[in-house]
Amino acid sequence: MASPKVAGPEIERLIQLLGKLPGLGPRSARRAALHLIKRKDQLLVPLAEAMGVAVEKIGVCSTCGTVDTSDPCAICTDPKRDQSVLVVVEDVADLWALERASAINARYHVLGGTLSPLDGVGPEDLNIASLIERCGREDISEVILAINATVEGQTTAHYIMDHLSNLDVNVTRLAHGVPVGGELDYLDEGTLAQALKARTRF
Ligand SMILES: [Zn+2]
Repeated sequence: MASPKVAGPEIERLIQLLGKLPGLGPRSARRAALHLIKRKDQLLVPLAEAMGVAVEKIGVCSTCGTVDTSDPCAICTDPKRDQSVLVVVEDVADLWALERASAINARYHVLGGTLSPLDGVGPEDLNIASLIERCGREDISEVILAINATVEGQTTAHYIMDHLSNLDVNVTRLAHGVPVGGELDYLDEGTLAQALKARTRF
């Protein structure tokens, strides 16, 4: 049963759209909408303006596939990054997570998903051909596969590895194992087995 409308169609539309954001259910969408409306000048107006600019300027980088306001993006054109290393990620969110960690000063390639025959996602649906082409064209010495440790992620990693094997590129992947701060007792068997297999010298 649809909940009764409490405001005019413009406000209901705002609530409905906010409710489509990840992590926001109908109740929190109403709360967020009310918060925005109450702070119209400080929040609603600047947010609407920022969204207008975003709609106008944001696009996909034709080199790496991330989103930015310039093409090529700020990362691809950053001369201070190691030009010989490419980090391959599934999604822009993963790129942002790696950048937040400040763990590597390299450039990226965003696949846009993982291979999933059951869902009808094949190599042509992802930015794989452009990755292979990029590795052949640019002076890349290492490709780091920072792909999720899911079945689809690993299938995708193997596919890419096969297709890069005839190029002079080192293909590496993230270590799988005990997370920082992790307690062995709480880990699943797959993670524990993988951590043992990938043990390193102390
Ligand atoms: Zn880029």
